[in-house]
Amino acid sequence: MARYTDASCKLCRREAQKLFLKGDRCYSQKCALERRAYPPGQHGQGRKKTSDYGLQLREKQKAKRFYGMLEKQFRNTFEKAAKKKGITGDNLLVLLETRLDNVVFRMGFASSRKEARQLVNHGHFTINGKKADIPSMTVVPGSVVAVKKRSHKSPKFEEIKEMQISAPPWVSVEVSKLEGTVLTLPKREEIDTPIAEHLIVELYSK
Ligand code: SF4
Repeated sequence: MARYTDASCKLCRREAQKLFLKGDRCYSQKCALERRAYPPGQHGQGRKKTSDYGLQLREKQKAKRFYGMLEKQFRNTFEKAAKKKGITGDNLLVLLETRLDNVVFRMGFASSRKEARQLVNHGHFTINGKKADIPSMTVVPGSVVAVKKRSHKSPKFEEIKEMQISAPPWVSVEVSKLEGTVLTLPKREEIDTPIAEHLIVELYSK
């Protein structure tokens, strides 16, 4: 599977926003954006205002990076959103939020989406008792996402069992059992990702 392999912090600096790609480090003084809050590269500190197109492009790049997706996959998700009933921008965010890797992150079983993707790839999760190792899988309401019994003993998950998880209202989590349920699809106001989705819709509608 193709994935982005360059330095994660550069992406935050490019978007001038924390994308929380590195778990605990993002909340510490070590965060690169805290220390160098300007775009990377030789001309990073000299860049001027951007055009409407530039703003739309940056918003799309930011969304892609938040959810750890590459262009083709993101575009396909947008097209799927556009075919659904309702507001395309809202549909897009719902599709992004209900990806398995994001659900694992939202349930508190990983400290970042990147880590969630890795844990899913390594086969640590099930959906309704069945193997689920594809990060882009859509998790539908009513589904139970759980850490595989075999993985419960790993230090990572032993530690999570002791943690207080603050999950969004559209999922419920039983930390001691290392499992959670997607209750409903998230509403727009329940999605805290700082994305102006209308700019992405404008960009792809050109
Ligand atoms: Fe972004 Fe986290 Fe790196 Fe800070 S530490 S720049 S939030 S990935």
